[in-house]
Amino acid sequence: MKPEELRNTATGTSIGVLTSGGDAQGMNAAIRAVMRTALFAGATPYAVREGYQGMIDGGDGITQLSWEDGSGILGKGGTAIGTYRCKEFTTREGQLTAAANLIEKGIDRLIVIGGDGSLAGLNEFHENWPDLIEELTDQNRITTDQAKAHPALICAGLMGSIDNDLVGTDMTIGVDSALHRIRDAMDAISSTAASHQRCFVVEIMGRNCGYLALAAALCGGGDYLLIPEVPPEDHWEQTMVDQLKRSRQAGHKDSIVVVAEGAKTRDGQPITTNQVRETLEQGLNEEVRVTILGHVQRGGTPSAYDRWAPTWLGFEATAHVLTATCTQPPEVFGLRGEQIVRLPLDKAIPETRSVATLINDAQYDQVLDMRGTEYRHLLGVFNELTNPERTEPKKTDKRIGIIHAGALAPGMNTAAATATWLGISRGFQMVGINDSFVGLAEGRLQELAWKDVDAWAYEAGATLGTRRHTPVVEELYAISRALETAKIDALLIIGGWTGYNTASIINIERSRYPGLQIPIAAIPVAIDNNLPGTVMAVGADAALNHVVESIDQVRMSASANRRCFVIETMGRNSGFLALMGGLAGGAEQVYLPEKPITMESLGQDITWIKKSFDDNGRSFFLAVRNENASKNYTTDTIAHLLDEEGQGRYDTRTLIIGHTQQGVTPTPADRLLATRLTETAITHLATQITNHDTSITCVGTSHNAITLTPIDQAMAAMDPDAQRPQDPWWMPLKSILDSLNREQSTH
Ligand code: ADP
Repeated sequence: MKPEELRNTATGTSIGVLTSGGDAQGMNAAIRAVMRTALFAGATPYAVREGYQGMIDGGDGITQLSWEDGSGILGKGGTAIGTYRCKEFTTREGQLTAAANLIEKGIDRLIVIGGDGSLAGLNEFHENWPDLIEELTDQNRITTDQAKAHPALICAGLMGSIDNDLVGTDMTIGVDSALHRIRDAMDAISSTAASHQRCFVVEIMGRNCGYLALAAALCGGGDYLLIPEVPPEDHWEQTMVDQLKRSRQAGHKDSIVVVAEGAKTRDGQPITTNQVRETLEQGLNEEVRVTILGHVQRGGTPSAYDRWAPTWLGFEATAHVLTATCTQPPEVFGLRGEQIVRLPLDKAIPETRSVATLINDAQYDQVLDMRGTEYRHLLGVFNELTNPERTEPKKTDKRIGIIHAGALAPGMNTAAATATWLGISRGFQMVGINDSFVGLAEGRLQELAWKDVDAWAYEAGATLGTRRHTPVVEELYAISRALETAKIDALLIIGGWTGYNTASIINIERSRYPGLQIPIAAIPVAIDNNLPGTVMAVGADAALNHVVESIDQVRMSASANRRCFVIETMGRNSGFLALMGGLAGGAEQVYLPEKPITMESLGQDITWIKKSFDDNGRSFFLAVRNENASKNYTTDTIAHLLDEEGQGRYDTRTLIIGHTQQGVTPTPADRLLATRLTETAITHLATQITNHDTSITCVGTSHNAITLTPIDQAMAAMDPDAQRPQDPWWMPLKSILDSLNREQSTH
């Protein structure tokens, strides 16, 4: 629903929000979105404190929320309204009291943020509601008028769980932040393990879901994985020891075994980290260290994803609950890639909960089916990358070239390293091309071995080198000759706009150049997230997290003064970084290249800022401006205007985040996306070589599925002058930002 359609449509309605069960980073972003969407719609939001316990306690357990209650919580872990595992709510008497207390406050609309247990509780409460109302009326605990006014509980659930176990969506709230914590720990462990040639066992959370462990192993260079969905074969201990030994013999310096806390053997016996350690110490005859990450995974600052996604979900769920009728069944709101999905609560939660039973019944195939195709995909890649035979496969005589093009972005190295590993594992000779198409024209190529790329895999940068030079037609002859001389059978372009533009030119001109008549695939890597054939480019998430961290630091630096800040992000003509950074960082305003800045709109902003400093006690105002938002209304110009017009109400400062956005370490989301896209590209190129198919394909993602789009079709959806998508998926989020980040009185 569009925010404009919601404004002041729910006056007189009350809505409760609660967090229940285990906490997860990002719950606060959801709470904030629920309360502010309610206020924007004219409704009254209430916090139900300490999970379902607040409903049973009544009184101060259910408190009205004001706009300010959402201030300052977006970047905090945990939950600002408390969470609890409330036993009493599972009883009839508990639910009767809970319903009576809600009705006393006039609340019959509810958003619950929690795990599968909490949402099962919500489903039960919803189903029991008419009965509860009847019994409360019979007991004279509510009047017949109250019963008539609240015939149904209208509700929705948001899944907050670091287990990532909601069947039908790709990321539950908290998973991405947990992966950030895990990535940091795994990177630290890898560096110490590699320096000492040591073996580590790392335990990752996940009772019935191995997603975190699988993602950790892929993102952090794990060598062996034990997860509940894929219990190891009999005698796995010996297999594990043999595999690690052979990996070491092949030159791999460290060994990391990743164990999900719920890992079990085929006969249902838990596999403990100590058991794994003892097995390895005996088998490898060396000291083995155990790291149990534990609650560290649930703590700390939420990642950018765990701020913008719950904000969007909170908005959509609240808009639905405020406008739904009594007969509409409750739903769980989740995300599949860039798309909101709504699942029926009474089906989604039992399905999710059935996984534990299926695991106990050894129905592992069915469990993996429920996890979705991408889970199997990642598992397949992990098994291939850790197969001891991988480094010396049966050779084909085919050669695949890897080239970067476009501006530097985090994840270029990850994609190049993964492509090299997978290509070698499938028998190809992988050839690295130095310095993009300029280097190719000069014939600067190098054959790559497994070990050559080991050090790059998780680093920022592009070790092969990248350029933003699009070859002109005259240069194609040299490029074609170089490809022929080096006997390149297929080309993998990893990069940004320049790479796609070059692929597009090659597509048009190739009939005259034999060397260019080979299969070509392009993988999107760009912080601007402006590329054809995909909704997400590798590297955009890392840059976005860097923007959000900078916003957090600016907020802290300004906490003692009345300040107006204008922060400038990169992004060229794409507003992704500025808008999503603003949404995740709680900015009041964003200036984007897709939406012209006018004198009138700046005038309105200035009036609003002055009013909010004067009347609302505001002490901090934040605008995020994309570097190309306007030729004349530069970051400095806007800051000068705000300063001049503020007449001493506040100090104005600017921050240009600059090139550090390109140099940050790839995030777990970037690493996983790079892995999935690269595997698909190598598989596709191999099939093309076999079939003599020389088409040029963009490998991307949409709705979290991997897509293959012909270059001409992908380019047709772009605005070539602005070098960005014609219809970016994130633009509708601008009006959600406007409705949530602006005090109610200033709308
Ligand atoms: P999570 O939501 O993280 O999975 P739990 O399974 O412990 O955590 O559930 C959290 C709370 O949700 C419980 O303490 C209880 O208050 C409520 N709850 C769980 N299951 C039910 C149920 N079947 N009926 C009513 N309430 C429930």
